[in-house]
Amino acid sequence: MGNLEAELEGFAAGALWFYGALVLFEALLELRGNTHFYRLKDTLCSIATGLAYTGVQVLMRGVFFGAMFFASQFAPWQLDTTPLTFVLCYLAVDFAFYWHHRVLHEVRLGWAAHIVHHSSTQYNLGATALRQSVVEALYEPWFYLPVALLGFEPLAVMLALQVNITYMFWPHTQHIKRMPRWFEAVFVTPAHHRVHHASNLSYLDKNYGGTLIIWDKLFGTFAEEREAPDFGVLTPIRSANPWIVTTASWRALGRDLAAAQGLRARWGVLLCPPGWAPNGEGLTTRQMQAAGVLKAGPPLA
Ligand SMILES: [Zn+2]
Repeated sequence: MGNLEAELEGFAAGALWFYGALVLFEALLELRGNTHFYRLKDTLCSIATGLAYTGVQVLMRGVFFGAMFFASQFAPWQLDTTPLTFVLCYLAVDFAFYWHHRVLHEVRLGWAAHIVHHSSTQYNLGATALRQSVVEALYEPWFYLPVALLGFEPLAVMLALQVNITYMFWPHTQHIKRMPRWFEAVFVTPAHHRVHHASNLSYLDKNYGGTLIIWDKLFGTFAEEREAPDFGVLTPIRSANPWIVTTASWRALGRDLAAAQGLRARWGVLLCPPGWAPNGEGLTTRQMQAAGVLKAGPPLA
């Protein structure tokens, strides 16, 4: 393949235009008056968080590359980037993304950042897809080190991740009900991802996939869209202020850490799933699903 650095730069810039064009298209559909998927304040808040996230992501690119390069030194072999090895690299990145995303949901330290992306009760390309926490940009590189250990070129890993992130944009829409059956069977679609963003009991912690939905089917986290999704989180952040949206979960985490007695309880607060409490009074998603009860927590803001 050609100059990977140029491809990465070109793709990242092109992705921003792709995002803008799709948001504009969805906004035009909204203005025609057929749908009510957008709220202006929510959308402006999401654009602000998305820009901050992209800025930190660009700043982190050097760290990302350095970490990938360091890890690739320990690979048992080095693979040149060809169309075939890039497809294999993409599969490895998508597999890593599945676990990265699962950790963001099932470990409180991850959820404190990722809740921002799930905090809107709207579901659209402007107010949901763009909404990101800057902290996630700091987490990102470390989950892809194992892919570099497989011998793929560091820049190929970064390009595959950029393509993967770009793919994940379009499923954040309510305009597409179902894709063709063969496509739904293999790829992540709007129907799958609406489930992921819903707080219905059976939808919680489901459909983590980035490009391929097969990982969820393999690892038992797949759910079909059967009932109307109730978008948002169980501990709502009722603000359109980007600073509050980004920091509310960290303040809650700080309060829980301060209240925890002893080292074991504090590590539990950081590393156990959201909802876990040292006194045993909390309910995690798994516990709620096993008991068949949906229990919302207090709003974070
Ligand atoms: Zn998520």
